Amino acid sequence: SHTAELIAVGTELLLGNIANTDAQMLSQGLSALGINVYYHTVVGDNPQRLRAAVEIARRRADILITTGGLGPTCDDLTKNVLAKCFGRPLVRHEASARRIEAYFRSIGRPMTENNYQQAMLPEGCTVLDNDWGTAPGVAFEADGVHVVMLPGPPRECRAMFQYRVAPYLRACSDGAICSRTLRIFGMGESLVESMLRSQMNAMQNPTLAPYAKEGEVELRITAKAGHEQEARALIAPVEARLRAQLGSAVYGADVTSLEEVVLPLLKERGLTLGCAESCTGGLIAKRITDLPGASAVFRGSVVSYATPVKHTVLGVPQALLEEYGAVSEPVARAMAEGARRTLGCDLAVAVTGVAGPDPDERGNPVGLVYLALAAPDGTTVKRTRSGGVRERIRTLAASGALDLVRR
Ligand code: ATP
Ligand code: MG
Repeated sequence: SHTAELIAVGTELLLGNIANTDAQMLSQGLSALGINVYYHTVVGDNPQRLRAAVEIARRRADILITTGGLGPTCDDLTKNVLAKCFGRPLVRHEASARRIEAYFRSIGRPMTENNYQQAMLPEGCTVLDNDWGTAPGVAFEADGVHVVMLPGPPRECRAMFQYRVAPYLRACSDGAICSRTLRIFGMGESLVESMLRSQMNAMQNPTLAPYAKEGEVELRITAKAGHEQEARALIAPVEARLRAQLGSAVYGADVTSLEEVVLPLLKERGLTLGCAESCTGGLIAKRITDLPGASAVFRGSVVSYATPVKHTVLGVPQALLEEYGAVSEPVARAMAEGARRTLGCDLAVAVTGVAGPDPDERGNPVGLVYLALAAPDGTTVKRTRSGGVRERIRTLAASGALDLVRR
């Protein structure tokens, strides 16, 4: 089976001015083709060091993809160096020279002499036409290594990979890697891991990997097979088993957020939603309204941050606020019921808690949050505790509220 190595060329990557997103994109694309990527290398615009990186890569990979350094300026040295490493002199490629001329004509910009540098390509290579910029890409095979050079600008690199390189590499590939990601809320990573540890170790294809992410757990099932359908067929029974084991903590597969699940669910059931937000300060409303189509379902949110507003706007009785304090079960309940009345919605979710950094005046600890859901058939309240800093506590509180709506 084939192994690829990516070499990103560019001093700005080493300086940390930009992130190596080309490598991320290419790795995703290559694994979708069933090609293993074993190394990412980043090297500056320096011929000796690039050469050294290529010499290492060619011994341990049989597909070598470079990004960047194909431009017309003198720091663009990738082709020169690879031409030397693989003994392929650069020769002027007339069709590419014409394409570059036409490109400049089409954008109405003058072309300078050094732009012809981009038409100097390794002898006998396959030219990968660049319809998204000026620098053509290059592919050739030497000593059993497939060498591919792509331009650095992400938009060009992505299009070139998708339309030029993937078809070329498909011939080298021997299968597909597919994955499916289950998203879990309300169960910590260590609990998920301990529940699944033994089967995770025993599994080889598919494999199972948990990742912790903003108070949630992602569980990725990855399978490798000759074809995509076969890989999918390997994943399906594993997914079913995991869903049975983890129950309703699994809120979706291949989705990116709770709100992305909640919104269609409400639409399907014909229910409208509103919120009363204290410590989340409108975060729930933000997350829901980030999604297109939210207006069909979402009525609004009352950000009742100050205690008196809980009374004046939501009608939480003064007596409750005085007796129990703003962060309490009865107040969360009254906030949700108040929001449901005020906003005229079927469901209202309320959040009140201590985001920190300090405990509240009643001594409630940082991370204590009450969530309430008011529905036509009654109100439920949930007390939660989470650790971490203010931002995490607020994110988790908003997620907890959305999770309550989903259940
Ligand atoms: P150009 O013709 O624009 O000079 P090039 O192929 O020579 O293209 P570079 O000069 O190395 O590529 O990079 C051009 C721009 O592309 C950089 O300024 C950077 O913004 C972006 N870029 C380069 N390499 C990467 C990378 N690995 N990941 C993300 N962006 C990159
Ligand atoms: Mg450049």
